[in-house]
Amino acid sequence: MEENIEKSSETKYIFIFGGVVSSLGKGIASASLGLLLKQRGYKVTIIKLDPYINVDPGTMNPFQHGEVYVTDDGAETDLDLGHYERFLGYSLSKANNTTAGQVYYTVILKEREGQYLGKTVQVIPHITDEIKRRIAVFDGKFDFVIVEIGGTVGDIESLPFLEAVRQFAIERGFSNALNIILTYVPYIKSAGELKTKPTQHSVKALMEHGIVPDIILCRSETKLSKEVRSKISLFCNVDEESVIDVYDVETIYEVPLVLSKNNLDEIVLRKLGMPENTLDLEEWRTFVRKIKNPQHKVKVALVGKYVRYRDSYKSILEAFVHAGSINNTAVEVELIDSEELSPSNCHEKLKDLDGVLVGPGFGRRGIDGKICAIQYVRENGIPFFGICLGMQCAIIEFARNVCGLKDANSTEFDKKTTHNVIDLMEEQKKIFNKGGTMRLGQYPCKIIPGTLAHSIYNQDIIYERHRHRYEVNNKYRSLLESHGMVMSGLSPDNTLVEMIELKDHPWFIGVQFHPELKSRAVTGAPLFIGFIKAALKHRKMKEHKLEEV
Ligand code: GLN
Repeated sequence: MEENIEKSSETKYIFIFGGVVSSLGKGIASASLGLLLKQRGYKVTIIKLDPYINVDPGTMNPFQHGEVYVTDDGAETDLDLGHYERFLGYSLSKANNTTAGQVYYTVILKEREGQYLGKTVQVIPHITDEIKRRIAVFDGKFDFVIVEIGGTVGDIESLPFLEAVRQFAIERGFSNALNIILTYVPYIKSAGELKTKPTQHSVKALMEHGIVPDIILCRSETKLSKEVRSKISLFCNVDEESVIDVYDVETIYEVPLVLSKNNLDEIVLRKLGMPENTLDLEEWRTFVRKIKNPQHKVKVALVGKYVRYRDSYKSILEAFVHAGSINNTAVEVELIDSEELSPSNCHEKLKDLDGVLVGPGFGRRGIDGKICAIQYVRENGIPFFGICLGMQCAIIEFARNVCGLKDANSTEFDKKTTHNVIDLMEEQKKIFNKGGTMRLGQYPCKIIPGTLAHSIYNQDIIYERHRHRYEVNNKYRSLLESHGMVMSGLSPDNTLVEMIELKDHPWFIGVQFHPELKSRAVTGAPLFIGFIKAALKHRKMKEHKLEEV
């Protein structure tokens, strides 16, 4: 134990690079290694370095870059941070994601302030120094800092990052830094073989930047044979046991189990001179076993406008996996494009579903379809879950069809509506007109006792994350309430509606925040767990009715 404390006072750095192609799951590999080290009793954090010039992904189209992941402290970050939090089980911060845009922005601001004292400002040393400073922010606070370098080795924009990492390792001493490259070993059908050449080329490209891999993670469709591993070992100059197989598995949550079976965590600890400690993966194994062997099944819809690209709703889809495991239920999620929903086809498209989630989003497009779906599930007692824009649409639908305010709308979609049930707050309008921005990050929410929401959370105050500009207009609160809508969650000063539900419905909940962002593997998120439970109940009731007929 003593030895452990003594050694852990020096933070160890593990750099994870990607070779051959993108989308190999570097984020999952980083998160999995993080979990394994954490489950051996170490303090671990993970940083993502993104070589793109955007300051953050907040302005990027979800079709291109997937979901924007928001942290407690209100940073809009890369979706890989979602994987890190889901695997590690705790919250990260804005310091866990750095982009080239942030690095250049900081350096250019310093230059404008004259802080470089007349020097020529250059990629080396100024940009690389700023990258190194950002890698070192957790120094001494963790035993391990895993640093995932976005993109693929060989990209022009990654160069300053690779150079910074190379310098960082030599400055810290090679015993404190470890390099891992994740590559692809394709199966070529016509030859009937797994091919190692792309891996060899990627490793060579990494070495050209002075970075020598200590471990090679090989993604492949099938397990690597001993021959293939020996070949990679020989030509890439890495000992054979450090050529680690990451074959395709059923669920991403199985990846830590595969990596551990192939001794990744032990090798990492040995190479960094750290005690092995015992590995406790019991809970994780149970969680995975339950995902793979569900006893029940439900089918729910996710209605949104970015459905062509599943990564746009990454956290929601993962929250369903967690909630499914906890309910011993396989959750089949049908993604429905809200633009394709209309009063004439809603019944056909939604009648067999056990629950409908209307997701977050921005802009007018697809709103009518969402409202149509909400009316259908409200009138037919199908469990409904509205997240952010989904809740705002539920309010609009209720105001129009139950309270009789025919042109009720959000001013986001119709500036001139006479019934602006969703609007910017007065305070926000002032900021907004000056280009002001969103409510971002974690805020407290008070849950009203006696509500469905309270029975789900079993807490009086919860903390959830936000990312939106518009709010429920307080002027309409009493009208909505008088027709059966319950404001079940409020900001502690009562000025903002954070959660709604309906009295005469089995399970109808809308939330202004994003509960999916805090759904973690093993423990899940209360609202998703409750929603799947309600969906299961709905299905059982349907089956029961069918049997009776
Ligand atoms: N567009 C809405 C707003 O800004 C909802 C945002 C969201 O769903 N995240 O308030």
